[in-house]
Amino acid sequence: MMRQAIWLVAVMVCSAIWAQGFAHAQGLQALARVDVSQSKIEDGRNGSISLQLELSQPVPFRVFTLNDPARVVMDFREIDWTGFDEAAVDQSERVSDMRFGIFRPGWSRLVLDLNTPVVPDQTEMRVNDTRGTATLQIDMIAASDEAFADFSKAREEDGWALPKSTAFGQPKERQLGDRPVMVVIDPGHGGVDSGAERDGYEEKHLVMQFALELEEALIRTGRYKADLTRRDDVFMSLPDRISRARMLGADVFVSVHADALSEGSATGTTVYTLSDKASSNMAAELAAGHDRSDLLAGVDLAEQDDQIASVLMDMARLETDVRSEMLADFMVNGIAQSVGRIRKRPHLGAGFTVLKAPDIPSVLVELGFMSNKSDLNNLLTKAWRDKVVLGVIDALDNWTVEDAAQGRLLRQ
Ligand SMILES: [Zn+2]
Repeated sequence: MMRQAIWLVAVMVCSAIWAQGFAHAQGLQALARVDVSQSKIEDGRNGSISLQLELSQPVPFRVFTLNDPARVVMDFREIDWTGFDEAAVDQSERVSDMRFGIFRPGWSRLVLDLNTPVVPDQTEMRVNDTRGTATLQIDMIAASDEAFADFSKAREEDGWALPKSTAFGQPKERQLGDRPVMVVIDPGHGGVDSGAERDGYEEKHLVMQFALELEEALIRTGRYKADLTRRDDVFMSLPDRISRARMLGADVFVSVHADALSEGSATGTTVYTLSDKASSNMAAELAAGHDRSDLLAGVDLAEQDDQIASVLMDMARLETDVRSEMLADFMVNGIAQSVGRIRKRPHLGAGFTVLKAPDIPSVLVELGFMSNKSDLNNLLTKAWRDKVVLGVIDALDNWTVEDAAQGRLLRQ
């Protein structure tokens, strides 16, 4: 017997999960699995799409849409995606692509890219009482562009993907050389967002390796405290990374990437700081690419940007920009000396969302480009990474002293 039950979105559960923080990762009970043979996404009449997911057990879920580009987003209390085969499931002409994976600890996300706008019409999860399995059925009907845009405005109000406003907290007190400096390292991408991929390697894993090595080396100096924005293979929105850094008491924020570029033969390490105007096409492409990763994972950055902006203090911003620029210059020198070579224009600026903390000096280090053979080889070589780590620590040593001296001058 099939018992009909509609599982409502557990919005309040979501905020509770957030409050418990990142340590509270995957639950202990067995995760729901998808039975691929019984699952399908197919086109119906009049531009409709029907989605059926066969799950080993019912899970709380929610469905919403996002615009520009048009997507349907489904969040689930965690699902084990092992063996999920999108080609076998997706038989719809109206779905151009799909992504799935962990969105944040304990929560999974499935994102459908739409060729043509549809909105959820009927949504239900039917539980099979005898077998304990569940069938999620979502019928989506064609919508005009305007209707889709309207429908898409209604999502995220629960603040699910937003950093809590309290997370912004007090502005960080500037380091004056009187305490160990806290360096928060941000391994780019994660979870549903793999970053660049080449030869079977994924950027999210490569930068995690480097971040862990840098963290350990920093702590071993005895001069620094260090922590990471993420330790697990989970998705984190760009604004969440800033909030996380602030919660950890960051004096310095270092985001680590190793992106690929679609064109050209870009190679070598580059250090980025925040800038309204991108200093090159490459810088613009990378910044846009990172925002796009968030968009594709189902985060609305425009709204979050406002929230970040609302806590901006112009004075802090100006002061922080100068400190970030100096850090980037020291980084470029430190890495160039320890590695022996660096890009011709190694310090660039662009509108990277992750660098927008108003009070924490922030830089983004593109270790190299996975699209370049020798860069990829470097990234995979421990001896090369060790040199970069040394260069970064050297830069932080120089910066900490100079920054403290300037800070003391400002306060006289
Ligand atoms: Zn990246």
